[in-house]
Amino acid sequence: MEKLARTKVKDLLKSQPGQKVLAKGWVRTKRGNKQVKFIALNDGSTINNIQVVADASLFDEELFKRISTGASLAVTGNLVESVGSGQAVEIQATEIEIYGECDPMRFPLQKKDTSLEYLRSVAHMRLRTNTFGAVLRIRHAMAFAIHKFFNDKGFVYLHTPLITESDAEGAGDMFQVTTMDLANVPMHKGKVDFSKDFFGKKTSLTVSGQLEGELGATAVGEIYTFGPTFRAENSNTPRHLAEFWMIEPEMAFYDINDDMALAEEFVKYLVQYALDNCMDDLQFLNDKYDDGLIERLRSVLGIAFEKVTYTQAVEILEKAVSEGQQFEYPVHWGTDFQSEHERYLVEKYFGKPVILIDFPKDIKAFYMKQNEDGKTVRGMDVLFPKIGEIIGGSEREASLEKLETRIDELGMSRKNLEWYIDTRRFGTVPHSGFGLGFERLLLFVTGMSNIRDVIPFPRTPKNAEF
Ligand code: ATP
Ligand code: MN
Repeated sequence: MEKLARTKVKDLLKSQPGQKVLAKGWVRTKRGNKQVKFIALNDGSTINNIQVVADASLFDEELFKRISTGASLAVTGNLVESVGSGQAVEIQATEIEIYGECDPMRFPLQKKDTSLEYLRSVAHMRLRTNTFGAVLRIRHAMAFAIHKFFNDKGFVYLHTPLITESDAEGAGDMFQVTTMDLANVPMHKGKVDFSKDFFGKKTSLTVSGQLEGELGATAVGEIYTFGPTFRAENSNTPRHLAEFWMIEPEMAFYDINDDMALAEEFVKYLVQYALDNCMDDLQFLNDKYDDGLIERLRSVLGIAFEKVTYTQAVEILEKAVSEGQQFEYPVHWGTDFQSEHERYLVEKYFGKPVILIDFPKDIKAFYMKQNEDGKTVRGMDVLFPKIGEIIGGSEREASLEKLETRIDELGMSRKNLEWYIDTRRFGTVPHSGFGLGFERLLLFVTGMSNIRDVIPFPRTPKNAEF
């Protein structure tokens, strides 16, 4: 006899009744009575379960005792029209094989506590919940859409190094990479002797692929990176991870306006892609966690993002404060905005995504193009409802002289950056780019409120489990 091939639950639910099928998956729930048992089976291909109906008289009673939530099964049977509501088809079981039992006393997802906090403590198992199934599928869809977006535009996917000797942001929050024996560090004249280290110099995990991205953009025109990024910032917020993924497009011949236009088109494309391809999962998250989710996603599509200069934004915030708006952190010209300020602008003042431009040069990185006023640089931050900053970018300083002067002003080492400065020395061009935090995007798209819940294995201060 021909061996029956397994059909995924996602496909079964769309199949015509009247055929013999084989389904495999994990038990979500089991209920029923002496005559008939109902098993909801899920294989992760969709948020939805296939209902298995088993006539108890056809099976050994012991079998059902061994089937509990979390157990893994192979079920053969006839796909029939479902009499119950909620699904079009169900499987009338003729054969049930148990792959693995799941002890109800010990299975961590059996507990009554299904809070996101609790699930973080069993992150190795939480992937099997409906919530994390939905998040993982949306995460995948967004990763795929990102590659599709750039591929369709002719961008080249550039792989930038994870181990680096440079600190792109100049912020210094880096994880060091070393093979030195920390109990016996080689010293030279009272200082650590990095010439004895693996790379012969001090190295760290990258905080951004941008500087290398610029090398790619000034060679093949338009590139993007998409990879892990590491920041040892001790910021225990719902929006920061120590290890997160970033997408960094970098484009030759783009000025700041081209850069903003691309950023806006890009995030709208991703949101549209999610609405077109992930509706079951979005609906589930909408119903369970955030009943404004789908509406919020649709709301960013139809409208143009508001473009505001940093200086105008400061005036708006100062006026708000004078009219009684309370902020935890003060604002005045020259300060970096906190998330509360960003959210005020987006949610209260403009009621739509905002692109902030022309920042004071002292709060932005050395590579941003300087404006004529001598005070501001051509940076841009895209701010989103519920999240605050989702994208940070800029037009890059293309002038060799201005770039070198700025590096000196900031007391940075030109020597370590010679390779980067060469892009301005040899055939320099106007160019721009930005970085989208992948998990920030996912916070927006899934409606989850803590960044630890949109990455499978979060790394945060004092937490590197699994
Ligand atoms: P923030 O002010 O929110 O810390 P940033 O100014 O440090 O952000 P950039 O250096 O411009 O951010 O990085 C580009 C993008 O990377 C940000 O817009 C954000 O989406 C994301 N990002 C930055 N830091 C983190 C982090 N620790 N965890 C997750 N995403 C991050
Ligand atoms: Mn930061």
